[in-house]
Amino acid sequence: MNAIASHGAAVHVVNCGKTFPDGTQALSPASLDIVAGETLVLLGPSGCGKTTMLRIIAGLETPDAGGRILFDNNDVTATPIEQRHVGMVFQSYALFPNMTVADNIGYGLKIRGVGKAERAARVAEMVALTNIGGLENRRIDQLSGGQRQRVALARAVAVRPRVLLLDEPLTALDASLRDRLRSELNRLLRELGITAIYVTHDQAEAMELGDRIVVMRKGAIAQIGTPREVYFEPQNRFVAEFVGAANIVEGPIAGGRLTLPGGWLGLNDAPDNAAAVAMIRPETIGIVSEGDAFLRGIVESVSFIGDRQRVIVTGAANRSLTVDAPNRINVQAGERVGLSIAPDAIRVLPKED
Ligand code: ATP
Repeated sequence: MNAIASHGAAVHVVNCGKTFPDGTQALSPASLDIVAGETLVLLGPSGCGKTTMLRIIAGLETPDAGGRILFDNNDVTATPIEQRHVGMVFQSYALFPNMTVADNIGYGLKIRGVGKAERAARVAEMVALTNIGGLENRRIDQLSGGQRQRVALARAVAVRPRVLLLDEPLTALDASLRDRLRSELNRLLRELGITAIYVTHDQAEAMELGDRIVVMRKGAIAQIGTPREVYFEPQNRFVAEFVGAANIVEGPIAGGRLTLPGGWLGLNDAPDNAAAVAMIRPETIGIVSEGDAFLRGIVESVSFIGDRQRVIVTGAANRSLTVDAPNRINVQAGERVGLSIAPDAIRVLPKED
């Protein structure tokens, strides 16, 4: 057992909606059950209500009448933020620029009356945990962005919050640093066993960090599920297209076949439907020789994207399909190809969200 592991609270959001005084309905009434110790990611486009949900859980915003927040079955709806034992980390670090790293990390402990010796010990733990050894006596304005974000995290965790709330904490950092900090954060959250609620509009971040993801759209929950569930089994078109790249094709389903302008696709257990919508992830489409395929097209472009190549094929299904193919496949623009798609890679979705 880790000495610094916190006891994370189970959080229940019950029927919480939010209409601001100017009449903006940021959040339709929604409920969420967050398991103690899990990392729940709120994912969605700008303005969908993620931050509002987070602020209601923190106690920075009051839900509309009828909404309640419970921490371990205690109703904290009327409890002010400083008594909820939450830690917060934002995109802007909100650190004290003239204070040292150590004083910033110890700040929350100091105002809670934790004695000097224990404070020093906990600051040292946090410094080790967040990999900022050697920077303890630097001022914040002498640190890089990544170092500042580590300090912000250390400060939030130092007080052993029951719930850690993170609002786009990595967004301000450059791509490679963001990737590195993302894996570090992942390790840290698991080590701490803390309940964490993490807001992001970045689906890769959501996938890596979330035990579960809440996909939000226009102030409502579009789907809740594990990263694999929202990726492979999206319940609607919005989730399919927001979480990863998706090919959406439309056509009638009859006798287990989805008929498309350039051919047909076999489906598993799909009932007949005169106007079906199906989703196919780019990496589940194989490029095969034309003669073998029920779906054919012409390669429009091939772009190398590092670990694979993105191939756009037109003509098949009367539209272009995006295919993520292994680099060893040799294809060129202008070439005629066949496409193979396994029946279980095709997900039939409701026509309207
Ligand atoms: P982003 O990713 O851009 O931060 P978000 O999903 O976190 O977006 P919120 O900040 O929760 O979205 O905002 C949801 C909606 O509520 C937006 O339309 C926003 O303009 C509106 N909103 C937020 N705060 C207020 C406020 N104090 N008064 C009026 N409207 C607000």
